[in-house]
Amino acid sequence: ATNELEHPISPKHVDWKSLYPAFPATPGQVEFADVGCGYGGLLMNLSTMFPDKLMLGMEIRLKVSDYVKQKTEALRVQHPGQYQNIAIVRTNAMKYFVNYFQKAQLSKMFFLFPDPHFKRAKLKWRIVSPTLISEYAFALREGGIVYTISDVEEVHLWMAKHFEEHRLFRGLSAEEMEKDPVVPKLWDSTEEGKKVTRNGGQKFCACFERIPSGALS
Ligand code: SAM
Repeated sequence: ATNELEHPISPKHVDWKSLYPAFPATPGQVEFADVGCGYGGLLMNLSTMFPDKLMLGMEIRLKVSDYVKQKTEALRVQHPGQYQNIAIVRTNAMKYFVNYFQKAQLSKMFFLFPDPHFKRAKLKWRIVSPTLISEYAFALREGGIVYTISDVEEVHLWMAKHFEEHRLFRGLSAEEMEKDPVVPKLWDSTEEGKKVTRNGGQKFCACFERIPSGALS
């Protein structure tokens, strides 16, 4: 179909070298995934905080993903040696997430202000669902963390419910979240987070750990 996005048939078919030209990027090296990264503010923030970790943003809108690509290239020129560890792909993460990542390669995943899709008939378009959580669990290593934040309480509760109910995840306590230096970056790094702040909106944050699959694993 013409509306299908081009996509790699497996992580081995992604041109990792062109995404991270300064790294000997081979399949399985990306550690952080920002799903629906929008304008990429989180990636740009985390890039200098974790300079040796490769991070990939996934964004479905062409104009937005082009913007992130150009901005990343500009940052690399302005700050030689920096911002080499971030990249973006234009893709439908709901369909092609597992085409990019091998089992247990990720240590962090981000869902920042995902589209709410309020109507009942549209709930299946939510980027967090039991089926998709199983795919995320596959790509995340044990001890890996999923970070979520939303300005819509209903969406926050939805994400929390589905991660908590999944046997491969547990919610982090408030104390655990306080100790994680990444958590403060979730609130205002991105365009959407800044917009919610400007409008005086509330934000609801929750994190989940990928736990071992049990005695048999
Ligand atoms: N995380 C960003 C932020 O905090 O500013 C963007 C938030 S915006 C409300 C949601 C983003 O998810 C949009 O940029 C949208 O294009 C993207 N998106 C929605 N569905 C997607 C999908 N299936 N695959 C990839 N990106 C998607």
